[in-house]
Amino acid sequence: MSAMIPRTLPGDAHAQAPQQVPRTGVIRSLDALLRQARARGADDAELRSNCDDAPDFPLRVPLALLDQIENWTADDPVLRQVLPSPREHDAVPGYTTDPVGEAQHQDGALLRKYTGRALLVTTQACDVHCRYCFRRSFDYGNAQEAGNYDAAFASIAADPSIHELILSGGDPLTLSLRRLRNIVEAAEAIAHLETLRIHTRSAIVNPARVTEGLASLLANTRLQVICVVHANTAQELGPAAQASLQKLRASNAMLLNQAVLLAGVNDTAEAQIALSKQLLACGVLPYYLHQLDPVAGAAHFEVPDARGRVMLESVRASLPGYLVPKLVRELPGASAKTPL
Ligand SMILES: *Cc1c(COP(=O)(O)O)cnc(C)c1O
Ligand code: SF4
Repeated sequence: MSAMIPRTLPGDAHAQAPQQVPRTGVIRSLDALLRQARARGADDAELRSNCDDAPDFPLRVPLALLDQIENWTADDPVLRQVLPSPREHDAVPGYTTDPVGEAQHQDGALLRKYTGRALLVTTQACDVHCRYCFRRSFDYGNAQEAGNYDAAFASIAADPSIHELILSGGDPLTLSLRRLRNIVEAAEAIAHLETLRIHTRSAIVNPARVTEGLASLLANTRLQVICVVHANTAQELGPAAQASLQKLRASNAMLLNQAVLLAGVNDTAEAQIALSKQLLACGVLPYYLHQLDPVAGAAHFEVPDARGRVMLESVRASLPGYLVPKLVRELPGASAKTPL
């Protein structure tokens, strides 16, 4: 976890310009979040009445992400993704705790679902707790913060059909640079691995995670590096996220984005068009737009397939093909993500 940086006070003779202080630190309670809301002039009583103050999946929001909240109500597209809703307790048929059937593909920290690729669950930790996440029902209480990956690398070394290693989690950028370096070195030592893919939301919601050390690690590996970042709205891509993406680009990584289609967050053609354009401005191409995994507690984010398709048709009619994400769903047992 990142260290809390002491904040300078107004009138402090040694105060630095705010943009020189990396925004780190994390909000982990509703009270702390509501204090931040109050400090920004929001109606915290209205917010409190719209959220659950003892959620099963704990509230977690990096301070840096608070800067991207434009309108401190439960309807703000950024706040809506992190604010625990009373509707998370609704039991909805079809919404379960292992919606994508991962348990059956798990070999320790390794998930082998698709040909040629192996996904390493590097850690259970995330910088942000997204209320729609299919990992929200993971047992964080029993989970290791970060594991020993020896067995996973032995499995990859023994299977020459694997060409790509995907680092996922949790969020791999929550790991220390030393751990990340060990992982990259272990991957480099396996001759049949060609591509290293990093799936991260931290690069967007907690941009200070993208350090010079990380950029130099990625710049100097023999592996082809692809970073798949996770931004759901243009609103998340403010100056700090832009700077982190710039650093990743400068390391020669190819940058793609995956988003999740979420009711009340990005379920209009306008929101998707704005996201694609803002991604392009950051040197990132849209990759996937995922239909929500039916995880218990997230049903209030559902957008029906038919509406998603119509929405994407109007995106396709407005933008060049390279700015149109693929709308997909993850189905248990399928050999790849399923296009809709
Ligand atoms: C999504 C996923 C991948 C990667 O799939 P792509 O279509 O190549 O992006 C790999 N392994 C697992 C377990 C996945 O869920
Ligand atoms: S960062 Fe990714 S894995 Fe973590 S809670 Fe959000 S969606 Fe889930």
